[in-house]
Amino acid sequence: MSAPFVRHDPEGAAIALVLDSPHSGEWYPDDFDHAPPRALVRQAEDTHVARLWRAAPTLGATLIEARFPRAYIDANRSLADIDPDLLADPWPVPLSPSRKTQQGIGLVWRLARGGVPMYSRKLASSEVRERVDRYWRPYHAALTTTLDARHGEFGGVWHLNCHSMPAVGDVLSDDPGHERADFVLGDRDGTTCEPEFTQCIAASVREMGYSVALNDPYKGVELVRKHGRPAENRHSLQIELKRTLYMDEQTLEPNAGYARLERDLARLLATLANYLRSRVAVIPAPTLKAPVPHSGSGQNT
Ligand SMILES: [Zn+2]
Repeated sequence: MSAPFVRHDPEGAAIALVLDSPHSGEWYPDDFDHAPPRALVRQAEDTHVARLWRAAPTLGATLIEARFPRAYIDANRSLADIDPDLLADPWPVPLSPSRKTQQGIGLVWRLARGGVPMYSRKLASSEVRERVDRYWRPYHAALTTTLDARHGEFGGVWHLNCHSMPAVGDVLSDDPGHERADFVLGDRDGTTCEPEFTQCIAASVREMGYSVALNDPYKGVELVRKHGRPAENRHSLQIELKRTLYMDEQTLEPNAGYARLERDLARLLATLANYLRSRVAVIPAPTLKAPVPHSGSGQNT
């Protein structure tokens, strides 16, 4: 079995910034058993997203990257967001399917892009439970542990939940046929992070020439809902990148815009690192100077 995630740790002193990319996994488990061709199933991925943010550790942030495909089990859904119609036998605890499940894209996706059925059979509830235990739980535990550690260290933590979106909404989306902005920031209508964090990112990317929309059509789902508690100085924001900025949506190959976007995301991270310096309670001690030896004279030399 492949590790469910990769954690890219800070390369120098850590800052209070954690990124996660729950949907960029490209490693397909043998027991997925999807019905449509792999190329169609892969349209669900946030292909390249973890790679596009790879400057994060060089700036002191942690980046957690899922390796499993989101269509197999979606780390950005709650455990109650299961479609009972997918299952051959009853789920052992009460379910609370959301609108995402109605759209066929709950915890386990019922539909591939374009509304094509993902399976030609019902899944045993034991299969779904195994996906939860092997992939969903370890991913959530890694993110929670990292966020808690930074919060303990700095008195606050800022989380970027990283995604990508098709350039135009498809039949299953809330905005079929509509062209999206380059960036969509989702803070669940201002409830999951301090407004200054959202504004800092929006202003920074607008300055680079990108269009930005807030909470439209994506407000943020399970991960920002779970981790965004501004009253506890825990800030969580979903950030969606329009796929045509950096790749061909059919072949998933990087396009001519990839390098520019990657460079601009590194600039955005540098801006955020500066922003956080003004927000955290504890600034790590400088590491450049050698420790000053204790002197009995009491003079600070
Ligand atoms: Zn995503």
